[in-house]
Amino acid sequence: GLPLLRTAWRLGPLEVPHRVVMGSMHTGLEGLDDGGAALAAFYRERARGGAALVITGGISVNAEARGGPDYVVMTDASTRRSFATAATAVHEAGGLLSAQLFHAGRYAVGDWAVAPSPVPWRAARGLVPRALTGADIERTIADFAASATAAREAGFDAVELMASEGYLLNQFLSPLTNLRDDEWGVDPSGEHSHTARMRFPLAVFAAVREAVGADFPITVRISATDLMPGSTSEAETDAFALALAERGVDALSMGVGWHESVVPTVQASVPHGAWVAYGERVATVVHAAKPALPVIASNRVVDLRDAEAILGRGQVDAVALARPFLADPEIVRRSFAAQFPLINSCIGCDQACIDRSLTFQPISCLVNPRAGRETEFPLGITNDRKRVAVVGAGPAGLAAADDLARRGHVVTLFEARKDLGGQFALAARVPGKEDYALTVRSASARLKAAGAEIWTGHEASAASLDGFDGVVVATGVTPRVVDIEGAGLPNVLTYEQAIRRGVPAGTVAIIGGGGIGVDLAAFLVESHDEKARALAFEERFGLDGSAEFARSRPTRALLSPRPGSEVTLLRRGGRFGQGVGITSRWVNVGALTHAGVRMLSSIDYRRITPDGVEVVHEDGTVELIPGQTVVICAGQERHEPLSEGLAARGIRHEIVGGARDARFVDAVRATSEGLAAARLL
Ligand code: SF4
Repeated sequence: GLPLLRTAWRLGPLEVPHRVVMGSMHTGLEGLDDGGAALAAFYRERARGGAALVITGGISVNAEARGGPDYVVMTDASTRRSFATAATAVHEAGGLLSAQLFHAGRYAVGDWAVAPSPVPWRAARGLVPRALTGADIERTIADFAASATAAREAGFDAVELMASEGYLLNQFLSPLTNLRDDEWGVDPSGEHSHTARMRFPLAVFAAVREAVGADFPITVRISATDLMPGSTSEAETDAFALALAERGVDALSMGVGWHESVVPTVQASVPHGAWVAYGERVATVVHAAKPALPVIASNRVVDLRDAEAILGRGQVDAVALARPFLADPEIVRRSFAAQFPLINSCIGCDQACIDRSLTFQPISCLVNPRAGRETEFPLGITNDRKRVAVVGAGPAGLAAADDLARRGHVVTLFEARKDLGGQFALAARVPGKEDYALTVRSASARLKAAGAEIWTGHEASAASLDGFDGVVVATGVTPRVVDIEGAGLPNVLTYEQAIRRGVPAGTVAIIGGGGIGVDLAAFLVESHDEKARALAFEERFGLDGSAEFARSRPTRALLSPRPGSEVTLLRRGGRFGQGVGITSRWVNVGALTHAGVRMLSSIDYRRITPDGVEVVHEDGTVELIPGQTVVICAGQERHEPLSEGLAARGIRHEIVGGARDARFVDAVRATSEGLAAARLL
């Protein structure tokens, strides 16, 4: 399978053995004071898993280029040392490593932020970037060149210039952020022009080319569309791509969307491959001029079968994926061996990767908590084989069982329900979160392949666990019961009942507007048909109608299960969707607003009636919120029936996830605890 992906291609003088590129991700490991050990382990594992060309996270070209406090500068001695270690590790595993040379410009989160012009970004919180002077610009160009030289000396195989996603080079290109009236923004005639705005990124390219020489590959990641009203036009994008092509770029990589755009590009609800068509459009223009210049597509491609289909359309030459390499370092090897059921899919949650990166914490992955922690949790078959029971097959239990079985322990997984997945299984029924089912299915497939026993519909008692060397207690949570008059009425459901059994037609009042309440509202008002949702996404965000998924548009009407006007989301105080990660919250809550869901906060609950919920507003007025069905999404309680009995019997055990602490139940914490417990037993 995947014949197109498996063909070799040329990146300048290099031969790259296949067409899957591991895209750039800032890991937060770059600056660790460990000589590059963690970084090298992270990349080594992915190169061993089949990644052939790996692009690093952004490496700053000088101090003011740093995106935040945990970004490193390429020319610093410690950075050179760390990346030399990483490059050696990748080479030993048979891969190639390319350094992404990065300048955050006005996206730097720090008082060092500089930009073409003093235009702050949407979330800059009052921080206005300093406009670069002409001398600063010359110095920055020289810093790009020096960084490229340093990268070559450190053992990198190529460099990538970051000119998309709204970073500095992209800022120079855009009329929104380049208001300069010198030669970096205006023509000799004094007119603002794209030709003048291109001068800086093209000067950077020329300087880098001169620094590394003709025989060293340079790729440039350009913005196929900024998704910012009034920014660079299609014709200007094409002109920039062609200018780079003429100047001898070795490949163009296609990015999409600025970080401050109000159009989602990386969230779970973004249909797979939704933005690839934009890169394909630029690729056709580039190929008309330079047929042999490789163009790399990207954005929300999760499955290599989709990447194969993208190549099959004949416009791009390779496909870059980033987060899927966090979720499964072996995605390439497994895909090429047609072991698709074993692949741990990225579910687009952003919780352990982008959300953390934005707050300058080291990244990991919700579905693969070893990601970024490869040195802390080395793989390797145990020589102290134990019989371990894992009780509960939710996120925490699956993570524990997966790690134990993989390292050669004898694992028995018990799940009280008939289906595996716990909270993941519930989430998978929420429109936009269907991929959560894939991670459950793949964990189950890996467990079976490793010889683990899985018992579903089986409530394990402490007595039944006698004889195990250790037990991971991952029994999860139960929905919290609320103390409101009428909570026992027949029209009141828990969120779990609502999601598992469905909600009868009619009005719905949801008590609790945190993450689960928002998910439940989406469950009620959004189409459960993925294709229909892809079309709705296209219509809402004005996607290019040439997108492949749009060609397969469903013919039936876009029926959502019920109109948003019938659903009210209630919350005493705080923000709707509190607890949802920063990357996803605005998208999820925005989708409900768009669907017409009423969101009401600053209220108190008086009582539940067969017709709805009586709430008291701050001014004392009482309102009946229509709710032929009332769903309680007011948090959860620990469900932990085992530890006492296990302790009494002297059985070693570790309690993880919601069973340990349900107050801030968080799937990232749950899977991380599952992994940690697997190493403690
Ligand atoms: Fe994908 Fe979520 Fe893992 Fe990030 S944390 S790589 S979005 S599964």
